[in-house]
Amino acid sequence: MNFLLDLTFDELDEIVKNAGEAAYRTAQIYSWIAKGAKYSQMSNVPSALKDKLAAEYGDEPIKIIKTLRSSADGTEKFLYSLYDGNVIEGVLMRYKYGNTLCVSTQVGCRMNCAFCASGLDGLVRNLSSGEILGQIVAVNALHGGNTVTNVVLMGSGEPLDNYDNTVKFLQNVSDARGLNISKRNVSLSTCGLCDKIRRLCDEGYTPTLTISLHAPTDEIRKKIMPVAISYKVSEVIEAAKYYFSVTGRRVIFEYSLIDGVNDSFECADRLARLVKGFSCHINLIALNDVRERGLGGTPRQKVNAFKVRLERAGASVTLRRSMGADIEGACGQLRRKHIKAGEET
Ligand code: SAH
Repeated sequence: MNFLLDLTFDELDEIVKNAGEAAYRTAQIYSWIAKGAKYSQMSNVPSALKDKLAAEYGDEPIKIIKTLRSSADGTEKFLYSLYDGNVIEGVLMRYKYGNTLCVSTQVGCRMNCAFCASGLDGLVRNLSSGEILGQIVAVNALHGGNTVTNVVLMGSGEPLDNYDNTVKFLQNVSDARGLNISKRNVSLSTCGLCDKIRRLCDEGYTPTLTISLHAPTDEIRKKIMPVAISYKVSEVIEAAKYYFSVTGRRVIFEYSLIDGVNDSFECADRLARLVKGFSCHINLIALNDVRERGLGGTPRQKVNAFKVRLERAGASVTLRRSMGADIEGACGQLRRKHIKAGEET
């Protein structure tokens, strides 16, 4: 099934021109689409053109079916349904500088990281670019205007395993004639598919790049991230350096601290050595416990000590707050709860 939101400006322009309509119609329709308007709401577009489009393209790729709001920090969690009955989830985090929406790129995931709920049932399917974009559009439509100012591709799925649709999404989300979210405000998080990282910057797509490292050695990384069998830690670092050298954008490494797995001082020292002399940043977070996986987060004090150890070695480090813990904030948890509830009824 195809949706208007799947189209780039140029693709829509082609359709409009082939329909014998004036070129200015493209900009009109494209801006309606970015606002989440249905055909019936596109008041300044001729019916004949709308009918032609509607024969091939749906106007609502995704619907919010549930919203949970954290009483602690205002974080909101959304459950969305797709046209084929699949469900995905997203989180809106409110910060002083703006609102960040965490967006999914696949239903499920095939990377199978040991600590992540998204990969528990494997990959169901890729999301189209319109379904990725639709998550932002749906939240803006719910709250009005341009609620979403920042986007992180950190929901379920591995964005670079859905490369073509992710790239098309990146094009559309920053298009000034549509959603107009600057690429500086878009972060792409990857488990480290090194060839795709290089391809991304060779092709000129340069969102803020976040790499889920989670371990400083191949031995530990292989235990928690199957992708480490294909790419060595040294290759991941090389790819990050390449991204920086081409784009001049600082790469962020995610490091989730897992109790007794990757949180020793030796790990901190190795991590510091890995990034020494490289202009990058490390984001630490204590793992959100995922019951199904039997792994727990590192206790608070030890997390702080790990951070200090890195800083003393000269690394640039931030400790991230875990937000929305009371609303199943971690990756894939709400979706699993929803699916399980469905199975039980
Ligand atoms: N596939 C991409 C993006 C999705 S996950 C990636 O691997 O980067 C977004 C981030 O959350 C990743 O850094 C991931 O490793 C991390 N993550 C997954 N499950 C987690 C958990 N239970 N606790 C803390 N971080 C988790």
